[in-house]
Amino acid sequence: MAKAVNHKRNIVLITTYTWFTLIGISYYFFPQFEDINYYNLILEFIISCVALYLLYSIQPFKKMTFYEPLALGYYLLFVSYFVDSIDQIFIHSIGYTVVMEKITLIASFVFIYFGTKEWMLNYQKMALTDDLTQLPNRKLIRQIMNDLIQSCKDKSTVFSLVIIDIDFFKKINDIHGHYLGDKVLGEFAHLINSSLKENEIMGRWGGEEFVLIKKNTVKKTALIELEELRKKIEQHPFIIENQTIHLTASFGVSEYKCNQQDFKSLFTEADKAMYNAKNSGRNRIR
Ligand code: GH3
Ligand code: MG
Ligand code: MG
Repeated sequence: MAKAVNHKRNIVLITTYTWFTLIGISYYFFPQFEDINYYNLILEFIISCVALYLLYSIQPFKKMTFYEPLALGYYLLFVSYFVDSIDQIFIHSIGYTVVMEKITLIASFVFIYFGTKEWMLNYQKMALTDDLTQLPNRKLIRQIMNDLIQSCKDKSTVFSLVIIDIDFFKKINDIHGHYLGDKVLGEFAHLINSSLKENEIMGRWGGEEFVLIKKNTVKKTALIELEELRKKIEQHPFIIENQTIHLTASFGVSEYKCNQQDFKSLFTEADKAMYNAKNSGRNRIR
């Protein structure tokens, strides 16, 4: 509530200051019309108020990266239409009209364009990123995999899908609590993600399950390469708030061959392989 009052006060201050400055400039520097076109004056004034309302409506987003260009865009739109409206009272020079009305209007569109684009990208990123690990989420991973499957042209298109499931993660939560469990998940994601090669993408599938896509990699090669990762996880001390936690993970791998599989069968195969790794004693790759 206090914040809303603050936003309102800021807008009132900015508006009053701008109104007085623009009317002051026009009053002192330009002559006045004898006949005023009230119809245009009111309509253009209403449009400038709409721009003000838009500026007011984005005040709660002050901390977002899209705020500044968008706020500047709406403010310039307000200035442009306000100058346009008092144009019915004062005989502005061409130079003043070009700068304060036309260039301001073009600049406002440019800023609104970049602000809106940034806003959309921001929300798109948020919708496709896992909040805890900052990795691509399930939705994005599915999208990437479907794109890979659809773009397959011939037998040379191949990739490996790896499901990684942390072993006995429930115990970590039980012993150290969910807060530390979350931190472990974050560090686990970072540990793997920071050592990925260019052809690899990792995402969080859900819970303590992750998915790794190894483009242009056959299963045989993936199995060899994953052994390194398995050891890395096994040997890594997860030091969180002075507590050292060791963990292992089980891996299930399937290989995509062009035109022979769809997403579902590819995923089921990797899932079965992962459960096979669990049933064979965990901390292994299948
Ligand atoms: P397994 O070796 O068979 O995989 O055993 P597990 O304990 O890892 O597997 P299980 O499926 O029994 O339990 C998964 C646990 O992961 C249970 C749940 O509390 C925990 N978990 C899932 N998502 C999160 C999360 O976002 N944060 C935390 N802290 N724990 C989570
Ligand atoms: Mg699991
Ligand atoms: Mg598990």
